[in-house]
Amino acid sequence: MVQADVYPIPSCAECGIQSAGKCPTCHRSLCIDHFPLEAHQPCATRGAQHAEQMRCYICGDPVKPQQWSTAIFAHYVDNHMCAGCHRYVCNDKHTAFQQEDVAIRRDGLRSHRYHLTKRFCPTCARLRIFGGLIGAGLWLGGAVIVVATLVIVAQIALG
Ligand SMILES: [Zn+2]
Ligand SMILES: [Zn+2]
Ligand SMILES: [Zn+2]
Ligand SMILES: [Zn+2]
Repeated sequence: MVQADVYPIPSCAECGIQSAGKCPTCHRSLCIDHFPLEAHQPCATRGAQHAEQMRCYICGDPVKPQQWSTAIFAHYVDNHMCAGCHRYVCNDKHTAFQQEDVAIRRDGLRSHRYHLTKRFCPTCARLRIFGGLIGAGLWLGGAVIVVATLVIVAQIALG
């Protein structure tokens, strides 16, 4: 027997009020106020311990991974890492390309939106363009097949 109307809403791991989402790093349920990394454990301690390693791998500037909520269902996550090589990159000089991915996660009857900032360091941004070229090549290949098919169809129709 499944009771469809029973979906206990998780409570915030820090304060116990109704949670607004899960931390993508430690996977704890948290309210809006405790969603930022420095507002809950174990992320706050881990952040403080690793502050020294959180530096742009190119220039060494300190970087600060961040996450925050704008609404009970909308959360923003910026881990300050290159999405290609998973190293920290600074915002000012070495984020060559940046885009936002939106992930929708269901949580019982509710769903939450996570806006993930995807950064690329200069090296990975170049590789990304290369990937784009391969993509363009495939697309061109597809177009050639379509044209060839049309030519064959036309020949049959005319013949
Ligand atoms: Zn809380
Ligand atoms: Zn966390
Ligand atoms: Zn840098
Ligand atoms: Zn990279």
